[in-house]
Amino acid sequence: MDTLKEKTTNHSSSSGTAKTSSKKAPETFLKLSSSISYLKGVGPKLGELFQRHGIRKIEDFLFYFPRTYEDQKVKKSISQIQVGELISLKARIASVKTIPLGRSTKRIYDVTLQDASGKIHCKFFRLPFRGYLNQFEPMQEIRLVGKAIVYKGQIEFHHPDIRVLKPEDEDLIQDQVNPIYSEMEGFSSAKVARLIQRLIQDLPGLERPRDFLPESIQKKYSLPEVWESVQKIHQPPSGEVAKFVEIKAPEQKKIIFNELFWLECLMACKQLGFKKEKGLALSSSFSWDEILKSLPFELTGAQKKVLSELESDLQKPSPMHRLVQGDVGSGKTILALLSSWMAFKNKTQSCLMAPTEILAEQHFKNAIKIFHDTPLQVALLTGKTKAADRKILHEKLEAGEIDLLIGTHALIEDTVLFKKLSLVIVDEQHRFGVQQRAALKKKGPSPHFLLMTATPIPRTLSLTVYGDLDISIVDELPPGRTPIQTRVINQSKRPQALDFLKDQVSKGRQGYLVYPLVEESETLDLKNAEEEFLKLRAQFPQFQLGLLHGRMKSEEKESIMEQFRKNEIQILVSTTVIEVGVDVPNATLMIVENAERFGLSQLHQLRGRVGRGAQKSSCVFILGHAVSDLAYERTRFLESTQDGFKISEFDLKIRGPGELIGLRQSGLPQFKLAEILRDAAILEVAKKEAFAVFEKDPQLLLTEHKVLRENLQKALGANSPLHTG
Ligand code: ADP
Ligand code: MG
Repeated sequence: MDTLKEKTTNHSSSSGTAKTSSKKAPETFLKLSSSISYLKGVGPKLGELFQRHGIRKIEDFLFYFPRTYEDQKVKKSISQIQVGELISLKARIASVKTIPLGRSTKRIYDVTLQDASGKIHCKFFRLPFRGYLNQFEPMQEIRLVGKAIVYKGQIEFHHPDIRVLKPEDEDLIQDQVNPIYSEMEGFSSAKVARLIQRLIQDLPGLERPRDFLPESIQKKYSLPEVWESVQKIHQPPSGEVAKFVEIKAPEQKKIIFNELFWLECLMACKQLGFKKEKGLALSSSFSWDEILKSLPFELTGAQKKVLSELESDLQKPSPMHRLVQGDVGSGKTILALLSSWMAFKNKTQSCLMAPTEILAEQHFKNAIKIFHDTPLQVALLTGKTKAADRKILHEKLEAGEIDLLIGTHALIEDTVLFKKLSLVIVDEQHRFGVQQRAALKKKGPSPHFLLMTATPIPRTLSLTVYGDLDISIVDELPPGRTPIQTRVINQSKRPQALDFLKDQVSKGRQGYLVYPLVEESETLDLKNAEEEFLKLRAQFPQFQLGLLHGRMKSEEKESIMEQFRKNEIQILVSTTVIEVGVDVPNATLMIVENAERFGLSQLHQLRGRVGRGAQKSSCVFILGHAVSDLAYERTRFLESTQDGFKISEFDLKIRGPGELIGLRQSGLPQFKLAEILRDAAILEVAKKEAFAVFEKDPQLLLTEHKVLRENLQKALGANSPLHTG
């Protein structure tokens, strides 16, 4: 153990006198929980750098996996590159260019490489990270790993892995197979590799990670051991490199499985915690007919199905935690109101929170309409409710004289107290943070929780983000809706779109014109809603136009909305304030400017503002100047479908999970190796197995669940539902 000795001498000489007690080579006793700075070669400065990158403990470092691998066997010169084959390349940078895409803010980044045999372009359609391009300079020596493709008749790389070689690194890279780690602020991959290699190979005293995966599951899927997996991922055997590059090795699958299994265990635990809470079991010994009869329509099959799911949840003593997903216009509001009815019939209160005043007021109006012949008392509370009214409202609420309180986040305030709150409903829940929802939940003794969202998200994502919730899907639109005709057009055709608007409004219909931003910004060449509003008003003197944006006072907003609802305004020029929930059936045309600035799911939501009545509706997405073909093609996906799930799945594929509306807030978990999209199949299995474990052994008392139990208790602390067991 030369290295160990070397360590001892080194350490004591460099760290002076104070450290005599740890003179005995702390490395020998390295625990997974030891600070990374105990590793030889990691001084305070490097330790700090590692910390900044989330590596605090030895364990973190062990699980800091290579992002790809280089295999000398597949090393090629540029002229030898074959399309579709994984290639390692050593070359020099010839040039680095940014190619603007017309007037769009998007860019293509082109790094041209050169060796004695020729040149090749590497293209990046988005920057891997900030400063990525700045690190490259002509003549620098680099190494690349990637697969070449043919693009517009040329062989090139798209998003390859390129790294700059430093002369000293060259000595470190000897092996046939080199793991490539993400560089940390100049601390190169080769150096990380050397440290990790020492850690796993030369330290017999190193504590091994314990596997929390129950043995029966491990066996069932023939998964390799954790330790073996960690080792191999850092140092794959030559000959298997390609498999590792493609993240298809069993060892990688094992780690991915563990990560996803762990996540689902956390979800299962949370759910277990919910089940332990004592809520108010509502009885359904009343007749729904009384209220259903008064509705202007019959519930769709999907609504009936979801209503019965809600009804059965509400009857349980443990509080409901259900998310109702339903495409825009699928009729979720009525489900919320009917749940409130059930709460009312049980002499308890409910509340409904919406993200905007416009929406809260709309819900309030709907509720009044539905309940006006019944004794159910509805009230509205928003930021603009006057202090005097507020006081009365608070009193009534505490006295139990209000049965359903509808409002914005004003509901969360401490002064809002209920007499007997049994049900909390949150509409467009993705607009709220976790904290806000939690605050509302505290307003009663474990009230039932109904969350609603019009952003259907793919199942894989809902398993990760909403894994602790039960999910209902309203998968049917009310009858009599004609599909919305959708067109994606270029700027040049904008006049035609406006003609069409004129035509529609002349026929008595109404239309929306949506702009991405409120104020002109110097850097972005975007249409300004205010400026455009004035132009349009001049262009359509025969019509009434209204302007709606986020910076307006709420009274103004509401008055504009009200006028639009009453058809006193025919054309509503707006920013995305109108995105959520607004329901004006006579509006049949939606025009969105600079549509490329929005995500597809968001465009789909905007589109959902029309097509709400029996009239044929249309939607026109106008693209800005010089938008790439790619953006055009993507947006055109909306022409082909109106299925929100399909759209969000497509959106997810092109933009990644973080960008889908609402998910940024909902706290997507960070993984070391797993990737939700790629590993969807593993996720399904991990979810099934994790929940089965808790089904079979809720307190995790079996021996094979011991490690899992300990880890979960450590992770969840006082929140662990396993604590009392
Ligand atoms: P969302 O799911 O987007 O919140 P809403 O609840 O706002 O949808 O409903 C959209 C429109 O459909 C409303 O005008 C509502 O009155 C109407 N609606 C809801 N359910 C039905 C139904 N079963 N039959 C006909 N119209 C319905
Ligand atoms: Mg809604």
